[in-house]
Amino acid sequence: MNRSMDYYEEPARKLHVRKLDVVVAGGGTAGVVAALASARQGAKTILIEQKGYPGGTVVEGGTALHSFYNLWKAFPGVEKRQVVKGIPQEIVERLARIGGTTGHVEMLKGYNYDSVCTAIDTEMYKLVTFEMLDEAGVFVCVNTRLAGAIKEGGQVKGVIAESRSGREAIMAKSFVDCTGYGDLAAYAGAGFSEPNDYSVASSIGVGGVSLEKYYEFLNSYDAVREYAEGPRSGKEGQIVRLSGNLKKMPPEFVQEANEIGMATVTTTVHDDYFMFIKVNFKMPVSPTNRDEVAKAELELRRRQAKAVELFKKYVPGCEKAFIARSSSLNIRRARVITCDYDITLSDVLEGRHFDDDIMAYGFHDSAPRLQIKDGGTYGIPYRALRVAGIENLLVAGMVITSDHDAHMSTRNTVCCMGQGQAAGTAAALCAAKNVGTRELPYDDLRKTLERDRVHLEN
Ligand SMILES: Cc1cc2nc3c(=O)[nH]c(=O)nc-3n(C[C@H](O)[C@H](O)[C@H](O)COP(=O)(O)OP(=O)(O)OC[C@H]3O[C@@H](n4cnc5c(N)ncnc54)[C@H](O)[C@@H]3O)c2cc1C
Repeated sequence: MNRSMDYYEEPARKLHVRKLDVVVAGGGTAGVVAALASARQGAKTILIEQKGYPGGTVVEGGTALHSFYNLWKAFPGVEKRQVVKGIPQEIVERLARIGGTTGHVEMLKGYNYDSVCTAIDTEMYKLVTFEMLDEAGVFVCVNTRLAGAIKEGGQVKGVIAESRSGREAIMAKSFVDCTGYGDLAAYAGAGFSEPNDYSVASSIGVGGVSLEKYYEFLNSYDAVREYAEGPRSGKEGQIVRLSGNLKKMPPEFVQEANEIGMATVTTTVHDDYFMFIKVNFKMPVSPTNRDEVAKAELELRRRQAKAVELFKKYVPGCEKAFIARSSSLNIRRARVITCDYDITLSDVLEGRHFDDDIMAYGFHDSAPRLQIKDGGTYGIPYRALRVAGIENLLVAGMVITSDHDAHMSTRNTVCCMGQGQAAGTAAALCAAKNVGTRELPYDDLRKTLERDRVHLEN
């Protein structure tokens, strides 16, 4: 980023002050659940989201919600268990009522990776979660950017938010950073690193295509790697997840797909539609750099167009493919915030649980290469959500866990959602008791989470 050496000193200005109990920054995967959990505890809760709708990367990046279950199908004899419940499960149930998800359908092929496929309609997800937030009484500020933190000693006193209605100071007792970028924590002076160890990506929804034709194409090369059937456009038993085995697919297709970082996996809940086709791009620097992000956004748009051309060219029946939905660039991570505990790869793989678990989780994105011991679960400890050195700030989502391979598990959507429920609950309890995050008795948090149908193992 080229910056001139000239400076302009911005004059100080008086801001309107708003007072609440809990601020949740970022209304994405974790933030929606955090705000719901906080408001349902009776805390006056504000959610600050820069886009015009909630959802975050769950509606713009992925292919399916990984995972509400343990990896039982990869371990013969291991029991099938739903290990994430609570508010994340409630969202799936609400979506199911309007045809916005496959629900948790079993993978018929590729179940060494995930035993279930929980595909969603991205647009219905935005609506359903927005309605749930509204019903819970969350003060939802969309099109509003978190632009600063107000700190006194080791405490966050408030945040600065900016929208077309102006700039305001929002004071509260407890704060949860779910921005994905750790913006609030960084503004508040928390420690962080920027590993730049993943590609950025954008996913497009592709219309004018057929899952059946894609299946026939892959099958003609004996290259079906992942396969699941479920409800689609109101009819049961349809293909809802597919991916290809690159080793068996035509080398020209594979070469062109590799050039644009395109993944062959897709899911859907609608006929004639691939809900997610991902293209990836490795940026030279961390995605907190605005100007490099602009270049990456353009490059990803070019790659999206090429991805559609690829389907038109190679997959019979997809000649009319077009981009039906796109998003801005998605990160797999930018900042990692320093917390009281950093989950290790051995915690994940050994299936370790802690005396302050706030959820259990049983999915690893690198399975079967890396997987949780015996198809079991590990625990996310409360201390992994407490921002080091700050008395009243929690984080949830992709910003925790510095180890790349451990993060390949904790960053997944369902884990982020579970963390969100715990962080929102804890923030509300802290605000009610007027205590910092470290003074909150774990037993109180645990009892509340269990009452709210969070599954805990130990
Ligand atoms: C391309 C891609 C594919 C993936 N595929 C899968 C998959 O198939 N399955 C799976 O389980 N996981 C997948 N993941 C991982 C998973 O989707 C993410 O790790 C997870 O959704 C992150 O959740 P989060 O709550 O931390 O962040 P997000 O969901 O990104 O939420 C952050 C929110 O904060 C808002 N925000 C940011 N900064 C500010 C600010 N300053 N002010 C106001 N609002 C702000 C954002 O707009 C956003 O809504 C994928 C990720 C990517 C990038």
